[in-house]
Amino acid sequence: MTAAALPIHDYALLDDAECDVRIVAAKAKLGKRCIILGHHYQRDEVFKHADIFGDSLKLSREAAQSEAEYIVFCGVHFMAEVADILSRPEQIAILPDMAAGCSMADMANKVKVQQCWDELAKIIDVENTVTPVTYINSAADLKAFCGQHGGIVCTSSNAQKILNWSFARREKVLFFPDQHLGRNTGFRMGIPLAQMVTWDFNKPQGGLTEQQIRDAKMILWKGHCSVHQAFQPEQIDNFKAKYPETIVISHPEACFEVCEKSDYIGSTEMILKIVREAEANTRWLVATELNLVNRLAQECKAQGKSVHFMAPTLSMCSTMFRTDPQHLCWVLENLAAGHVVNQVAVAAEQAALAKQALDNMLVAS
Ligand code: SF4
Repeated sequence: MTAAALPIHDYALLDDAECDVRIVAAKAKLGKRCIILGHHYQRDEVFKHADIFGDSLKLSREAAQSEAEYIVFCGVHFMAEVADILSRPEQIAILPDMAAGCSMADMANKVKVQQCWDELAKIIDVENTVTPVTYINSAADLKAFCGQHGGIVCTSSNAQKILNWSFARREKVLFFPDQHLGRNTGFRMGIPLAQMVTWDFNKPQGGLTEQQIRDAKMILWKGHCSVHQAFQPEQIDNFKAKYPETIVISHPEACFEVCEKSDYIGSTEMILKIVREAEANTRWLVATELNLVNRLAQECKAQGKSVHFMAPTLSMCSTMFRTDPQHLCWVLENLAAGHVVNQVAVAAEQAALAKQALDNMLVAS
C-alpha cells in the first residue's frame, strides 16, 4: 500500500496501450472486490474493460447484488449516485472522472423544481393532484424530491408503466427533466398534445397561463438531451428515399417528430434487443448514441444486417466520452493500492428519500 493516493496527473500522458496492460493488472489484483460497470454509451477503449454492460438501472441493480466492495461506474454522475443509493452500505461507488455529468440532468435542479412546485401550488392543489415523476437521468436530490412528494422515478424502458402508476394516484404529472421522453410516452398512452404543456423554467409560471396549467394532464420540464436532438425527421426521409426498405428505431429522448416517423421507439436495451432479434439481411436506421450504434452495426454484420446511425454528423455524448482509459487506470490502481478516489456518496437523508422514489418504480414496473 502506498502512503498517499496516486495523483491523476501522473496518468494524463499514458498511452491507451499502456493503460490497457495496467488496467488488466489492477483488475486481476482486485479480483471480485471490484466490479466495473459499462454503460452502452461508453467508448470502446473503456467498454472492453467492463465486467457487465447495460443501462444505468440494470447495472446498478446487478452491482448491488454482486459481492464487490467497489463499484466503478463507467458512465455519468447520476448513474454513480443511483449505484450508491441501491448498493449495500459496505459497497463504495466510484466515478472515474467526476466531470462526467449529463447535460440533460443538469437542466433541472432542486431550486428550479421547488420553484415550479410552489408556483403550481398557487394555482392548483399540487400535493393532491400532481405526481412528480423524474427520469432516472437526474440528480439524487430530485429523486429525493419525488420521494418526499409521493412521486416516482422512471427509465426510458418503463416510462409508460410509471405514468400509469402516477395517474392511478393523481390526475396530473409533473415530468422532468426530459420533455421528449414525457411527450413521446404520454402521446402513445393517448394523451393529446394539447394536454401536455411545456414548463419553461426560465420564465415566470413556466411561461404558461393558469388555464393551461389547470387543463394540463402532463407538465413537461423543458429539458432535453443534446445528443438525441441531433436526430431530425428529414434525416429519415432522406435515408428512406435511398433505401425504402429501411426500418427506423429511435430512443424516446429523440424529438416527437422523429419518433412519429419511426417504426419502433425503445430504450437502449430495447433497441439492442429488437435489432439483434430482427430477421437477417434487414436495414436499420438508429437514433441513439453513436458508440452503441457502431458496436451494434459491427455485431450485426455477420447476419447481413446493415445498421446505420441516423445523424449525418458525429453525435456522441461528450460527457460519457470523458471517461477514458487513463481515468479508469487511475481509479483501479489506487484501489489496488488501498486508496479510494472519486467516491460518489449520496447523503443519508437524501438517499433514503431518493430510494423511496426508486422503490416506487421497482414496485410499479
Ligand atoms: S446521452 Fe444525453 S441523456 Fe445520456 S448521458 Fe449523455 S447527455 Fe445525458
